[in-house]
Amino acid sequence: MLSLDQLKEFCAAQKIPAFRVKQIMQAVYQEGAETFNDITTLPAPIKKLLTDTFQISTVKPTAQEVSKDNSTVKILFELPDGNTIEGVLMRFNDGRRTVCISSEVGCPLKCSFCASGTLRFKRSLTWEEMADQVIYFSRYLKRNGEELNHVVYMGIGEPFRNYDNLLKSLAILMDPQYVGLGARKITVSTAGIVEKIRMFADEPFQVNLALSLHAPNQELRQKIMPIALRYKLDDLMDAVKYYLDKTKRRISFEYVMLRDVNDTEECAHELAKLVKGMLCHVNLIPYNATDIDTVAGSEKSTIKRFQEILNDAGVPATTRVSLGQDIAAACGQLANKAQKPVNMPRPVAMPSVVKKMARKVQAKMEK
Ligand code: SAH
Repeated sequence: MLSLDQLKEFCAAQKIPAFRVKQIMQAVYQEGAETFNDITTLPAPIKKLLTDTFQISTVKPTAQEVSKDNSTVKILFELPDGNTIEGVLMRFNDGRRTVCISSEVGCPLKCSFCASGTLRFKRSLTWEEMADQVIYFSRYLKRNGEELNHVVYMGIGEPFRNYDNLLKSLAILMDPQYVGLGARKITVSTAGIVEKIRMFADEPFQVNLALSLHAPNQELRQKIMPIALRYKLDDLMDAVKYYLDKTKRRISFEYVMLRDVNDTEECAHELAKLVKGMLCHVNLIPYNATDIDTVAGSEKSTIKRFQEILNDAGVPATTRVSLGQDIAAACGQLANKAQKPVNMPRPVAMPSVVKKMARKVQAKMEK
C-alpha cells in the first residue's frame, strides 16, 4: 500500500514539488491507477523513481474467475511471502458493489460446513494485505465506472483472531485519503470470539458486526463449530447483549441452513426464543456446496418455513442471496485450490472427533 506519510517524506527528500503528492494520491486511490506508469500527468523520471521505491500493493492478483452472469469476480491473490488468499467482488441487482475479503491464510477454526476450514492455517494477514484486497477491487470498479460501496470480512479466516491488524485495516477503509468508505458500509463477521466482541463494542466507530451463530443451542453449536467448545453460547449471548447495550446498533446473526442438522422447525422456534427482543437481524444462508461431503443444504421450502417461524415470532429474518456459486466464490466456498486441503472431521456423526479437533484449535489459539 502506498502511504501518504511515506510519499510526503519521499517527495520532500527528492525535491519533488508538494502538489505531486496530492496528484499521486488522487490517481492511486480515487482514479484507479494500478501502477505509477498509469499516471499520465507525471513526468517520466518521477514515475521511475516512484516505481523503484514503492510497492503500490502487497497483494498480487494471479488468477481471476468471473461467474457466468458476470456478477461475481473471484481473485486469487499472491502475498509477498508466496502464500495465497482469495477475495470476491459481488455485483448485486440493486446496485450494491460488495467486496468480501480474507483475514487469514487458511483458517484454523474448522467449522464443519466451511471449505475454508479445509485449508491448512498458515498465518494471519497484515493490515496492509487486508486493505489492499479492498483497494484492488475499488480500482477495478473505478476503471469500469463503478463504485465500491460495501466491504464484508467474510472471506477466508477469522478476523477477530487478528484484531489489531483488523482495526488498522478498517482505519484505512474509512479514511477519505484512501478508500473513504462509511463505517456502516463495512461488516466484520466473527465465528464468536467473546472477548473480541466486547472489545469491538467499545470501539469508537460504527462498523457493523455479524455473528455466525448457526445453531440455537450449545449442544448443537459445538457439534458443528469446534470453536463453540471454547466459547459457550451463554457467554456469547452475554457479549452480544453487551454489544447491543453499548452500541445501540443492530447485530446480524448468520445461520447457514444445513439439512437435518439445524433446520428443523424446533430449531427455528428455539432460535426465535434465543434472539427475540434483541436489536438484530437473522440472515439465513442457503448452504453453498463445498467438497465437504458430510453436510448438505436444506430444501428451499424448509428455509422458507424456517424464516416464516422467525418472522411470525417477531424476529426479522431474510434469506441471503448468494452469488458466484459457479466459480466457488460464495459464502464458505473460498478454499483456493492452490493450497493442499487438510482432512475434515465428520462432526455431526462423530462429536468426539470434533472435540479432539477443538482441543487442537484451542491450543493453537492460545499460542
Ligand atoms: N470466520 C468468520 C468469517 C468467515 S465465514 C465467521 O465465521 O463469521 C463467512 C460466513 O459464511 C460465516 O457465517 C460462515 O459460517 C458462512 N459459511 C461457511 N461455510 C458456508 C457454506 N458452505 N455455505 C454457506 N455459508 C457458509
